[in-house]
Amino acid sequence: MTHQTELSAQQTDMLAGGRLTIDLDAIASNWLFLKNTLKSGTECAATIKADGYGTGAVLVAQRLWQEGCKTFCVALPEEGLAVRAALPDATIYILGGLFTGAAEVYEQANLRPALISLEDLTEWAGYCSNVGRKLPAAIHIDSGMSRTGLSPEDFATAMADSTLAGAFEPCLLMTHLACGSEPDHPMNKAQLAAFHAATDAYAHIPRSMSNSAGVFLGEDYHFDLARPGISLYGGKAVDTVPNPMAPVVKVEARIMMVRDVAKGSAIGYAAAATAKQDLKVAVVAAGYADGMHRRAGSTDEREGAFGWVSGHKVPLIGRISMDMMAIDVTNVPESIAKRGAFVEILGPNVAASDVAAYAETIDYEYLTGLGKRYHRFYEPLPAPDQS
Ligand SMILES: *Cc1c(COP(=O)(O)O)cnc(C)c1O
Repeated sequence: MTHQTELSAQQTDMLAGGRLTIDLDAIASNWLFLKNTLKSGTECAATIKADGYGTGAVLVAQRLWQEGCKTFCVALPEEGLAVRAALPDATIYILGGLFTGAAEVYEQANLRPALISLEDLTEWAGYCSNVGRKLPAAIHIDSGMSRTGLSPEDFATAMADSTLAGAFEPCLLMTHLACGSEPDHPMNKAQLAAFHAATDAYAHIPRSMSNSAGVFLGEDYHFDLARPGISLYGGKAVDTVPNPMAPVVKVEARIMMVRDVAKGSAIGYAAAATAKQDLKVAVVAAGYADGMHRRAGSTDEREGAFGWVSGHKVPLIGRISMDMMAIDVTNVPESIAKRGAFVEILGPNVAASDVAAYAETIDYEYLTGLGKRYHRFYEPLPAPDQS
């Protein structure tokens, strides 16, 4: 016999280990900010792959559609199908290209592959010839990153061939920046020159180069359409300047217990951290299974990431476990850091890019790896804590 428990909303709240709050209005205002940063005439698309960088691709697409965003980029065709079901009239690009054998599915759902290789392009062209329809597709050209994209030579070959690019409608020529987050990196100008060299002869076809970082590199990089992702979600696209984007995601973890730890005691797995004085330590209900990268823990040699509780910055201490981690709350009043309270571990006061640095990763990986156990809320986020 199964045991069914009906929980009230209040009971459900009591059971949350962590809470993930997503501010869709902040995503919309970030999109408007990016759009206004682009030169006039450049369309601002939205990259919502990996479930909108963890925030919920369909909800993000619907919110941005209301704001006037018409074009969406996803990685996988299945992600495209989910967005299509919600937005019948949106333009949807599949950045992963054409998956072999799947052209008919793309056509049925009106998904546009961003063709990433001559093989992709040849298959799309063959499908279009067979069905007798010149269907739209983007062509991704490699301008120096050596990831996806046709070589400029293959691209030139395809464009000159009526059975290749001539058999479908190339509706967007695109490339991707490898080093956009470093504005002074010579690779940016080199990729810009390579993209011009490959595509200037086809300037009647819309062109696209910029991810979030590219938006901030200036008008030369904007072309006809930009494809920002991380900046929509409040992430840091450019390494060298303060992040202008509004925070979008907040993660809070429940304090399950607060304990005294005497000077000299070991804290957590491997006894990696030792109390250097008498401490108050809060044990919170989030760990690496929730996307809190294990490498962001502290050791006696190295400080770890931090959280935030009512105006207090509170350091992680010791190794991060699967389901929990320890936070030093010695300097926080007991009335605040107490059993049942929640600690912000990402959010307006704890930038994912800052925390990610302790784990030698980037905010993209934090956001997309946030795990499934959080109770999820869609609501406006408060401004950063001033107290
Ligand atoms: C992920 C991706 C983007 C968005 O990049 P951000 O750095 O998140 O703005 C744009 N274009 C392509 C091809 C991508 O893979």
